Amino acid sequence: MGSNNTSSPSSNIGGAGSELECLPYGVHHQGEGVCLLVKMGPYRILLDCGIEDISPLQNLEHPIDLVLCSHAHSDHARGLLDLHQAFPTLPIYASEVTTQLLPLNWQEVEAQQFCHALPWRSPIEFHNGLVVQLFPAGHLPGAAAILLTYTNAQRSYKLLYTGDFFLSNSRLVDGLHLEELRGLEPDVLIIEGSYGTSRHPHRRTQENTLAERIERAIASNYSVLLPTPTLGLGQEILMLLRSHHNFTGRDLDIWVDGSVATGCDAYLQLLPYLPASVQNFARHQPLFWDERVRPRMRRLQPNQRPNQEKPCIVLTDNTKDWSQYCQPDTGWLIFLPEKPDYASINHSTTNIETYLLAQHSDGPGITQLIHNLRPQDVIFIHGSPTYLADLTSLEELQNRYHLHTPSAGTLVELRIGEMFLQPPAPPETSYEGELNELGSVVAITLPDAVTTDPRWRNFADTGLVSARWQGEELVLRGLSSRELLNTGDRDSLAWANLNCCGTCKFHRNQRCWNQASPLFGFKVTPEGYCPVFERLNADNPSDSEAE
Ligand SMILES: [Zn+2]
Ligand SMILES: [Zn+2]
Repeated sequence: MGSNNTSSPSSNIGGAGSELECLPYGVHHQGEGVCLLVKMGPYRILLDCGIEDISPLQNLEHPIDLVLCSHAHSDHARGLLDLHQAFPTLPIYASEVTTQLLPLNWQEVEAQQFCHALPWRSPIEFHNGLVVQLFPAGHLPGAAAILLTYTNAQRSYKLLYTGDFFLSNSRLVDGLHLEELRGLEPDVLIIEGSYGTSRHPHRRTQENTLAERIERAIASNYSVLLPTPTLGLGQEILMLLRSHHNFTGRDLDIWVDGSVATGCDAYLQLLPYLPASVQNFARHQPLFWDERVRPRMRRLQPNQRPNQEKPCIVLTDNTKDWSQYCQPDTGWLIFLPEKPDYASINHSTTNIETYLLAQHSDGPGITQLIHNLRPQDVIFIHGSPTYLADLTSLEELQNRYHLHTPSAGTLVELRIGEMFLQPPAPPETSYEGELNELGSVVAITLPDAVTTDPRWRNFADTGLVSARWQGEELVLRGLSSRELLNTGDRDSLAWANLNCCGTCKFHRNQRCWNQASPLFGFKVTPEGYCPVFERLNADNPSDSEAE
């Protein structure tokens, strides 16, 4: 049953007590960062150190055995350097890519490499009976979900910490693979709940909406300023602008400044770890810093201002003073990421708009991951307390799991029962709807409760369905984007009127067959674009046939 059996307050994680406990030092309710001390049997493992002041960690009764960092964002990592300096022999580990991105958190100091790399997926035994495994979590290159397994004479205990996670593929990092986590059967899941129960449009829709709004601003003679964090969102937007059909080939300057530019340099060092599509792109043009291929992407030099004669796009740190780029009411629009915790927007500047290009899973994604793992206990962190409360009040979760939303300093005792049975899979609900024959089409109306099922996302992925008779029954199936590519049924799709690979006459069987194209021979997505695009001849439909 839904419970909040957290005891409080506690200054130290237990001596005797249960085999499994979690004492949070930071749960990122308001931007304070994540830092969790987990006790498994005799071992103490610190998951992330995103708190600014590490003094609460300095006088622990029992020393920490091991530190694991989920990813390089500062809300998970900024205390690590101080921690290392306070305890130079304390072992700190993260994924290979995270170890390379971490130094961006301390650009002002020459920090030596103190974090050691762990490979993906290999179980590593750190101490007798304590095993660590990392799985790619989407969200940011290198971001890991961390599985801890502790085995004593009686049984094994498993705890999975998601870090920040994202189920969808984004431009520069593939999404978390549900399939590879499904069989893990953790007893405890510590999961981020940034977006609470809110529901997001499909990733492609978010990208297209942002691209269209930026294009409209440029067309209306506005320059656009995009303040972003050092890593992640900024590089995603740059990739989007450089590969989206609204912008490819356009005579337009994109300027990048501050630590976002440093973040781009760091990504260039990581090319072999980025998705295959990005590596293909980079084979034909620089990933970043490109004067040749339009739109041009340039680094703003110190004291340099973007040329104001024609509209341009500027990306810079969200911590910078925006007035150094643009004065209010001088033909600039400022686009800010729409985030649940973006409370402190400086509204003294006019012309601010917000957009959604999510880097975390939405509510249906969060519940989908939980139902796939079916743990006994779920600990929600990383999100405003109201958003997390929205999640813990979901009946579908309350009925199946022990739910916790601890604040910092509140010990969570996890009583893993020997007799614990995996919660049963949710019962199948059936939905009643209505049929309407409307002349040339038939409309089927279903209650919107059908969309709360985690499977809806896959079903509705493309917005297209196929219907087939099976005896007396009509079976509906959602079409995946993969199937659409295979059928070659291009006309029904949203991009049918755009200049993109999907409407290019050289696009067959998901590949580019134009020898003049940098994409020749590669698998391309239908919304891709290259300079030698040639529209499929509308008068000669046989061209569109798959070979
Ligand atoms: Zn993050
Ligand atoms: Zn975070």
